[in-house]
Amino acid sequence: MRLGLFGGTFDPVHSGHLRSAEEVREAHALDEVCFVPCGVPSHRSGRPGAAAHHRLEMVRLAVAGNPNLSVSDVEVTRPGASYSIDTVRHFSAGLAPGDDLYLILGLDAFLLMDSWKDWRELLALTHVIVTSRPGFGDDLPYDKIPVVVREAFCYDPVRSGFRNEFGKEILFTRLTDFFVSASAIRRLLGKGKSIRYLVPSEVQRYVKDQHLYHERQEC
Ligand code: ATP
Repeated sequence: MRLGLFGGTFDPVHSGHLRSAEEVREAHALDEVCFVPCGVPSHRSGRPGAAAHHRLEMVRLAVAGNPNLSVSDVEVTRPGASYSIDTVRHFSAGLAPGDDLYLILGLDAFLLMDSWKDWRELLALTHVIVTSRPGFGDDLPYDKIPVVVREAFCYDPVRSGFRNEFGKEILFTRLTDFFVSASAIRRLLGKGKSIRYLVPSEVQRYVKDQHLYHERQEC
């Protein structure tokens, strides 16, 4: 079992997230990609625009038709700020021998990894798949990776990638550029504009029915 964990605020989940999960799953032959919406974000100023249970439900609706995608409520139900290390510990405890965990991270998040809680332990427990973000270039910008993170890995010429002393890898995946973001969607909604085709239709309907993201300030 090769399980991908895709964390985020998903405020709301959009087609960029879904396409990213699909491309990563295919590129790394993952059996499943599990979306893990955060409860209280630890890396973001301000509260999310939608409550955690709404963000969780929107992801549920978005992944419902795909047997290779799933969603976990582990961060939403955990009290306090959401930290990836707690989530990785949780999933790692449930692995069978031979199973592998892959934490999927946007390049923007990966470059800040040394500020994450217990990041050294995290890198001992899971492989990391770093995905491109539009405007960030085509390769892993080696010189921009925090030095302490870089020093924990060696280049593995056989895999053309990086591996640490625990056998965990950092793998870069170049995604098809999809210029959509949750903040852009919230801005459109705030102006009363359409978000059709930027999110799955079930999510669009949910946002409308629940009156989410209207008359709110950007956070
Ligand atoms: P916001 O605009 O509010 O910052 P976001 O659209 O970046 O939100 P998040 O929930 O913060 O969404 O992102 C979760 C993960 O999805 C992150 O790893 C992020 O890099 C990745 N991601 C977000 N948008 C895209 C996109 N258009 N293409 C590829 N990856 C994306």
